[in-house]
Amino acid sequence: MNKTHYLICLAILLLSSCKPSNDTKKTETNYKEQAIEKGPITLVIHGGAGNINREALGPERDSLYRAKLKEALEVGYDKLSRGGSAMDAVVATIQTMEASPLFNAGVGAVFTNEGKNELDASVMNGKDKMAGAVAGVTTIKSPIAAAKAVMDKSPHVMMARDGAEQFAKEIGLEMVDPSYFYTERRFKSLERVREAERKKELSYLEKYPDWKYGTVGCVALDKDGNIAAGTSTGGMTNKKYGRIGDSPVIAAGTYADNATCGVSATGHGEFFIRNVVAYDIAAKMKYLNLNLDEAADKVINEELVEFGGDGGIIALDRAGNISMPFNTSGMFRGYKNTADDTRVFIYNDEE
Ligand code: ASP
Repeated sequence: MNKTHYLICLAILLLSSCKPSNDTKKTETNYKEQAIEKGPITLVIHGGAGNINREALGPERDSLYRAKLKEALEVGYDKLSRGGSAMDAVVATIQTMEASPLFNAGVGAVFTNEGKNELDASVMNGKDKMAGAVAGVTTIKSPIAAAKAVMDKSPHVMMARDGAEQFAKEIGLEMVDPSYFYTERRFKSLERVREAERKKELSYLEKYPDWKYGTVGCVALDKDGNIAAGTSTGGMTNKKYGRIGDSPVIAAGTYADNATCGVSATGHGEFFIRNVVAYDIAAKMKYLNLNLDEAADKVINEELVEFGGDGGIIALDRAGNISMPFNTSGMFRGYKNTADDTRVFIYNDEE
């Protein structure tokens, strides 16, 4: 090889090493395409996952749950169809469920080991990744409204306990006596769990045979293609010593990013925090180029199961695709993406 040949070969070698490989290019293109696509206005909700079956729930409660899920979906969809933002739809939908004693959020919140109701909530906007959360609050009527206020009216992301309550009072949110959250059904659940614990039938936060996670959540896609997500809960029955679960933790219980998806979770919070569940679904879409269903299924039905974590999530992407995987026998859930059809489901054999 003479000197000229050598230089030509070197130049070819350098040029080819600078060119992106086909694979890399494909990934970048797909990811960008995903980020600019817009879907039809869409709303997806959950009202908790758990050991939920037809026999235990009974036909009467089954229809009560379905009716309330439908009502919540219609409230949020109405906002979206009038041009409202995804965040406004999420808050209005969750407030409908917080006001119902059927769910473990707001007025139906479960009791702590000390016999109190301590509530957690969070919201996140997919457009600018702004987020807000409150944890361990006892006198704020709508924790989801307080979470949004932390995002909108404070420089912080999360506020807890009496500080969060002082903030809520100062900005004029509706405050209630802690007894507002008392329901006999939830108090009885606490007594049963305490009794089983006393008899050493259950260890701390272990599950009672008819265990349910009744947290509520919503993810919405608005007409501008923006995604928002929110979650509200009373936590877990018999939780102790200021325990905070995943629901107010951004990236664990709630996450939203227009470029990937919005997620709201329900389940055994400790597992969701350690597995960064909501963000992990978005990360699998972003870095592995998985679609929403693939990413959500991998996290909930493979990784979380291997780790021993019970629960599920609801999610949607910017194209309006919906995913609702759960690894328990049931999850109260539903979605609405057309004006004349509202879909709700409870058990794992329904689609
Ligand atoms: N994830 C909630 C928590 O651990 C419980 C639930 O989903 O109901 O606090």
